[in-house]
Amino acid sequence: MARPLTAEINLNALKHNAAAAKTRCLGARLFGVVKADAYGHGLQRVIPALNGLDGFSVIEIESASFIRDQGDLRRILLLEGVFDSAELQEASVRQFDLVVHAVEQSRMLVAAKLSKPLNIFLKVNTGMNRLGISLGLVEEQLATLRSSRNVRDIVLMTHFADADGESGVSWQADLIKEIAKKHNLSLSLSNSASLIRFGGENEAWVRPGIMLYGASPINGVSAESLNLKPAMTLRSEIIGIQNLEKGDTVGYGRTYRATERQRIAIVAGGYGDGYPRSAPTGTPVLVDGVRSKLIGRVSMDTLQVDITHIDHAKIGTRVVLWGDGLPVEEVATSAGTISYELLTRVNRRVRFNLC
Ligand SMILES: *Cc1c(COP(=O)(O)O)cnc(C)c1O
Repeated sequence: MARPLTAEINLNALKHNAAAAKTRCLGARLFGVVKADAYGHGLQRVIPALNGLDGFSVIEIESASFIRDQGDLRRILLLEGVFDSAELQEASVRQFDLVVHAVEQSRMLVAAKLSKPLNIFLKVNTGMNRLGISLGLVEEQLATLRSSRNVRDIVLMTHFADADGESGVSWQADLIKEIAKKHNLSLSLSNSASLIRFGGENEAWVRPGIMLYGASPINGVSAESLNLKPAMTLRSEIIGIQNLEKGDTVGYGRTYRATERQRIAIVAGGYGDGYPRSAPTGTPVLVDGVRSKLIGRVSMDTLQVDITHIDHAKIGTRVVLWGDGLPVEEVATSAGTISYELLTRVNRRVRFNLC
């Protein structure tokens, strides 16, 4: 028998979440964000399940080409645009949509000799201060792009810094809506949090990612309450059991000390698989559906769980590290991170199964 740790990808959950995202679009078209190998779920597994979406967005042009190579003719947006002129040529031939987020990218685009014009998403910095053209340069860039033979269509785009937080989106959205109105342009604004909180009614294209994978983008709001289902379940089994006396310690650094007699399970799965080493004692783990607690330090290949209260637990008993019955957000919060990081860090050595 193989090592029992598997990442199970639930295609029906992906389809369900895609439909849930669609119902929030209110007329906007939807680019499913499948960057970072579909948030760690595997591009080749995820794309066929997302057949209800209008397109995809990725970072690397190789991912865009991979999707096209499957015979998929939907729109594909390169979220950071192209990085050199060879990529620009390929984008033109294969008809990928491009973000232009810097004046340098726009210069390269306008100067190129392309076989076919491209759809451009002009990314404006409205306050995130990550990628995007400064507000003061937008007018000039619009004029440049509009007069270029290499440009077919322009959509104005921005990214929200606090869509899930207190400041919300209007402090940024108002700025770009004004430009769009003045120049009669359509918009692409929303990530998952913004789509859920505010809907996509003012947009031509929305760009949700995390919600497609069934995790909640909003702190304190459960995925279940948003009608989202976890697409990945990290499953394992108990592979060892130890009986502790009061005062015995567990794992590296002896960070956990038993306060009474305890039975603990050793579970296949550790930071070498992508389970966070930062997860402290108390992080939830499901043992045969029963909530239990991680104890001691996470090792590279194993972690320990208290099973004192689960009499029937034995070697071979099934464990869920996150997913079905245990939202990845909960584990992430306990480990001081976010679901996005846990999902994208599942290691290559973990077997993936479709269900
Ligand atoms: C990653 C990303 C998204 C998707 O964000 P989620 O929070 O996963 O919905 C949308 N737009 C851009 C520009 C991104 O980089």
